[in-house]
Amino acid sequence: MRILPPKIWRNKDTHYALSASVCEKCGNVIFPARASCNKCGSFKVKLVKLSGKGTLLSFTKSHQIRTGYEKESPVYFGLIRLDEGIEILAPLVDVDDDPKDGSRVEATIRRLRVDSSNGLIEYGTKFRLIENE
Ligand SMILES: [Zn+2]
Repeated sequence: MRILPPKIWRNKDTHYALSASVCEKCGNVIFPARASCNKCGSFKVKLVKLSGKGTLLSFTKSHQIRTGYEKESPVYFGLIRLDEGIEILAPLVDVDDDPKDGSRVEATIRRLRVDSSNGLIEYGTKFRLIENE
């Protein structure tokens, strides 16, 4: 799959940080961030950065993995409720054993994939468990 640096550059504000849009007319929180409100249609929205912290509601573990990524097996995906109330599905990293539902997690930037045609690496958001919070 090709990695397109111009597209990543255009979306860098939302690609490398968890961001949402907040409608200044009705207060609706839109995730992922958009230029208009999906509730009232207003274009008066502002971009806000999210804390990146949340609670793991549930997870799934997969042993089926793409060719070339076998050493990363198994991979975990979590259903996460961010502290701002938004629920997202995201990959979990640095998981040694099955995590407990209700664990605290935080966003981290990690490698997502490598373009096999030119070696470009795409980075993006994944989540890791945090302790003592
Ligand atoms: Zn609105």
